[in-house]
Amino acid sequence: MLKFTLFKIPISVHWMFWLLAGFLGGGLQAQSAADWHKVLVFMLAVFASVIVHELGHALTGCKFGAGQAQIQLHGMGGVAQFGSGGLSRKQRILMTMAGPGASILLAIIFCFVAVNMPQGSQADSYPTFLLAYFVDVVVTINIFWAIINLFPALPLDGGQILRVALGPKKIKLTCVVSFITLAVLGTILLMKTRSIYNLMVILLLGSYTWNLYQQIREG
Ligand SMILES: [Zn+2]
Repeated sequence: MLKFTLFKIPISVHWMFWLLAGFLGGGLQAQSAADWHKVLVFMLAVFASVIVHELGHALTGCKFGAGQAQIQLHGMGGVAQFGSGGLSRKQRILMTMAGPGASILLAIIFCFVAVNMPQGSQADSYPTFLLAYFVDVVVTINIFWAIINLFPALPLDGGQILRVALGPKKIKLTCVVSFITLAVLGTILLMKTRSIYNLMVILLLGSYTWNLYQQIREG
């Protein structure tokens, strides 16, 4: 497992993270060396993007006194965890919003980079082509993820915000909203992309809420 520290926050990366990033980057279809270069660039773009998103949560949490933060990157993305420090409801909501906020900020910065990059021409060198692909992927996935992440479904950031906003007494309502959101999102994604992978992600997200719902019912 890859481990390093950034802004005094320990970060660990599970091998499943690389596997899924490689799969999403087209690793199964890659045939030539050029294809593999693009897969690697895609993986790096995903890696940088998830780190920035989680740093948004972690640094905001630390600033509010949530205790020592640590970031883990796993097969489904990433998670920022904290020590024992307690946060107010408003602080928890702000800390949760800081993740998608960091993603949107990164997308805006890279949009600016993309606009100011030399336009593609035959004379472009190969590294410039790969750099342009990196910028392109960062912009696309950060906008896409920020939007998806803000849907009110657990365990996405939007679902966490809803959970904190409604409070522990209305956790059942949070679960119901979560299920409805996932059902609508799943139907739209399936109709638009016809991808089994998207359906699996929705089912996996749904299983989180289902487990939580069972725990509440069992008290
Ligand atoms: Zn997040």
